Amino acid sequence: MADDLLHKPCQTCGATLNYEPGATTLDCPYCGSQNDIAVPAAALARFELSPALGGASETDLPPERHISCPSCGAEAIMAPQVFARSCDFCETVLIDQDTKLRRFAPQGLLPFGVEEGQARERLRRWLRSLWFAPSSLARSARAKQRLRGVYVPYWCFDAMTKTDYRGERGTTHTVSRRVQVMKGGKSQWVSRSQQVTRWRPASGQVARRFRDLLVQADGGLKELEDRRFSSWDTDALEPFAPDYLAGYEARLYGLDLPQGWQAALRAMEGVIRGDIRHDIGGDKQRIHTLNTHHWDERFTLVLLPIWMSDYRFGGKDYHVVINGRTGEVRGQRPVAWWKVVVAALLVLGLVAAALLIAGASEGVSLTPPI
Ligand SMILES: [Zn+2]
Ligand SMILES: [Zn+2]
Repeated sequence: MADDLLHKPCQTCGATLNYEPGATTLDCPYCGSQNDIAVPAAALARFELSPALGGASETDLPPERHISCPSCGAEAIMAPQVFARSCDFCETVLIDQDTKLRRFAPQGLLPFGVEEGQARERLRRWLRSLWFAPSSLARSARAKQRLRGVYVPYWCFDAMTKTDYRGERGTTHTVSRRVQVMKGGKSQWVSRSQQVTRWRPASGQVARRFRDLLVQADGGLKELEDRRFSSWDTDALEPFAPDYLAGYEARLYGLDLPQGWQAALRAMEGVIRGDIRHDIGGDKQRIHTLNTHHWDERFTLVLLPIWMSDYRFGGKDYHVVINGRTGEVRGQRPVAWWKVVVAALLVLGLVAAALLIAGASEGVSLTPPI
């Protein structure tokens, strides 16, 4: 059965292998290691990163393909980044098995846990909760919106890290300073407290183990630009099986493994900087240098379930995505500008009133501290 191809990655680098019927071993064309094809793939395989990083870039998208449905014979079009979808006529799952499309096949997936009806309800509540949204939005969006269930590719990384750093710890003190003020037309000296930070050198080492660091690997979905869900329950990842794809679309990665790893390194550095600040302690921290050693880096490719919603409002297209596990909604919100203007004027009015009251009581002029 051709489905097996999706389950036969190289045991060293994770590349999808094409094996000959009857052969018992196969050399990986990417890393050269010999694979025993009788060994079944482990549950949610994770692979060593370094042998997998070399080789040609995979950022070019495959062309649109035509495949015919094995059940009803109808012809279906696979958009460039799509590798699985349902037949328009009989709903059979169509999977494009061409291993030349991409070097790595998904190893794991989180099945959809939020059904379309629940996702629609979340979306409706989200639209209602928007402060500055036009009042007619919830109604009109509900009428037109169509949800599309998509399995989106994500790189999933594990790594150990150790980081040496140099920086400074700042301790803040409150000091009293003499300030000249005008009061009732007369100048007089009063005490004012001021914050002063003293900096001392700090250096040290922090260590962190990263597990299941996710990098969105699609690259081609407008809906997901600048969007991140707050969490994914990666502990529930299941080994990939084509059955899960029934009724949904599944996509190939457009961001290749080296690009995904670069994004992961940036994300890890952000977390490590937080660890360093915590390690430095004090009231404020400065980081001058940091040097991170990574080892035991592993990766796998997974598919995560996302509901996509595109709607038009006031002649513009808006994109909203809903986490297919948690129901979290992320998206663009149309704004009713008159509501924003009224709110801004209200705030400005309050600030102006506060300034008038403060200004009336005293005129302030700062002098050098004594
Ligand atoms: Zn290999
Ligand atoms: Zn069909």
